[in-house]
Amino acid sequence: MSSALETLRRDFGGDIIEPGGAEYDSASRTLLASGNPAHVLRPGSVADVQAGVRIAARTGPLLSVRSGGHGFAGFGTNDGGVVIDLSQLADVELIDKERHLVRIGGGATWGQVAAGLAPHGLAISSGDTKSVGVGGLTLTGGIGWKVRKYGLALDNVAAAEVVTADGEVVQASAEENPELFWAIRGGGGNFGIVTAFDFAAHPTTDVFYGKIAFPASQAATVIQGWADYLRTAPDELTSTADLANPFRGPEAPVEIHVAFDGDDPELAAQAIDPIRRLGTVTGDDIALTPYADTLAEGTPPPPGLQFALRSAFVDQESVPEVLQILAEVRASERSPFIAVRSLGGAVSRVPDDTTAYAHRQAELMVVTTIAGPKPAVQAARPALEAIWARLAPHVNGAYANFLSSATAEDVAAIYPTETYQRLAAVKRQYDPGNLFARNHNIRPQ
Ligand SMILES: Cc1cc2nc3c(=O)[nH]c(=O)nc-3n(C[C@H](O)[C@H](O)[C@H](O)COP(=O)(O)OP(=O)(O)OC[C@H]3O[C@@H](n4cnc5c(N)ncnc54)[C@H](O)[C@@H]3O)c2cc1C
Repeated sequence: MSSALETLRRDFGGDIIEPGGAEYDSASRTLLASGNPAHVLRPGSVADVQAGVRIAARTGPLLSVRSGGHGFAGFGTNDGGVVIDLSQLADVELIDKERHLVRIGGGATWGQVAAGLAPHGLAISSGDTKSVGVGGLTLTGGIGWKVRKYGLALDNVAAAEVVTADGEVVQASAEENPELFWAIRGGGGNFGIVTAFDFAAHPTTDVFYGKIAFPASQAATVIQGWADYLRTAPDELTSTADLANPFRGPEAPVEIHVAFDGDDPELAAQAIDPIRRLGTVTGDDIALTPYADTLAEGTPPPPGLQFALRSAFVDQESVPEVLQILAEVRASERSPFIAVRSLGGAVSRVPDDTTAYAHRQAELMVVTTIAGPKPAVQAARPALEAIWARLAPHVNGAYANFLSSATAEDVAAIYPTETYQRLAAVKRQYDPGNLFARNHNIRPQ
C-alpha cells in the first residue's frame, strides 16, 4: 500500500483527501450516505482519473465512483476503500453550434448544465433536480421534465469518453466501440468512468410549469383520468402525479405536476386544460418559467434521515389495476410517499435494443418513498412490503435510479435476462476483474 501511495502522490495531480484532513468529513459522505473511505481522490484531469483507477486497481478491491453524489443506494462512498469524486470535471462546452452538440464533464450536475446551456437557448432532457449528477442519472436513464418530448437523458448521448478498468481512455459512440456505447446507456457505472459525455441538446424556450391540486376525495377518478389522458396528450406535455404524502396524511391533495415544453399559451392551455377538467381544482400555479428554474435545488436532508425508495414500471393493460390499488393505499395512515411518473412519448419510440435501458414500453413508473429516522423507516417496511405484494402481479422491472437497495432481485428487475447477458459480455471485455462493482452490479462471470 505504501508504494502504491507513493505512486499515487507522484502521478495524481488532483486533491487527495484522507481521514483527519480538513475536507474529509464532507468528502467522505454523499447526500444520503456516510462512509469512511481511506482516500477520496478528486481528479482535475482525465490523466488523474487514469492514475486514480490504476491505483484503485492495485490497492483494491473497494472503489466508489461519484459524480453528483445523489445515488439512493449510497454507492458513492464506502468504508476503507477509494472514492473517485469527479466533481472537478464539470465543464459544459458547446462543441458544435449547428448540431447543438454539448460536451459535459462526467462530474457536472444538472444545475451546472442548465445554467451553462441557457445562454445558448438550449437544454437537455435530464431530471427534476439541479444538484443531481449527470453521471449517475444518465448512465441508467434520466427521467425529467422533457422525457416525453426528447426521451431519457441517455437517449440524447451521442458519444462518451471512458476510462476503463486498465486505466486506458476509450471513446464510445455508434462508430467507436459500439457495444460499450450500448452498455453505458443503461448499464450504469459498470464499465468504466465516464469522464465526458457528448449530448445532443435541444433548443428550448421558457416552459409552462407548475402543479394542479385536487381534493383527496377525488384521488381515484383524477389519477385514472390523468393516465387515460396522457396516452393521447402531446409529447410536449410531461407530467408526474404526487399521490400520497405521509407527512400530510390521507387528506393530502393529489398534486399533478406538469411541464409543457413550449411558450405558446394557447398550445399549453390545449395540452393542460384536460387535466384541469379531471376534478375540482383547489390549486393551480402553472406559469411560464425558464427551463432552468423548473429544476429543484436538491436541499440536503437533515442528518440521520434515511430513505427507502422502490420503483416499478406499469404497462398499458395494467394501468387501471395499479392506480386503483394506489388510490386505496393512499387513503391509509401507513401510506408511503407515492409518485407516478408519465413515460411513453419519445421514450417508447426508441427501439428496444438501441440502449441497455430495458423498459421502453411502460406507460408509467411508480415510485414509493419512506423517509425518517432509521427506526421509523424500519417500522414502516412491513406496510410497504404489503403494498408491493399487492402491486406485484401488475407491475414489472425497476428503475435503477429510484432504488435504495441493490439485491440480486433488484438487479434482475432492472435488467431482463437478455439485457443482462449482453451487458455481462461487455463487462468481460472492459472490466473482467469487476473493479467497478459499487453499482447494480453486472458480474463478468
Ligand atoms: C433529490 C433527487 C432527485 C432526483 N430526481 C431524479 C429525476 O428527476 N429523474 C431521474 O431519472 N432520477 C432522479 N434522481 C435519481 C438520480 O438519477 C440517481 O440518484 C443518480 O444515481 C444520481 O446520480 P449522481 O451522479 O448524483 O449520484 P452518484 O452517487 O454520484 O452516482 C451514482 C453511481 O453512478 C455511477 N456514476 C456516477 N457518475 C459516473 C461517471 N461519470 N462514470 C461512471 N460511473 C458513474 C457510480 O456507480 C455511482 O456510484 C434523483 C435523486 C435525488 C436524490
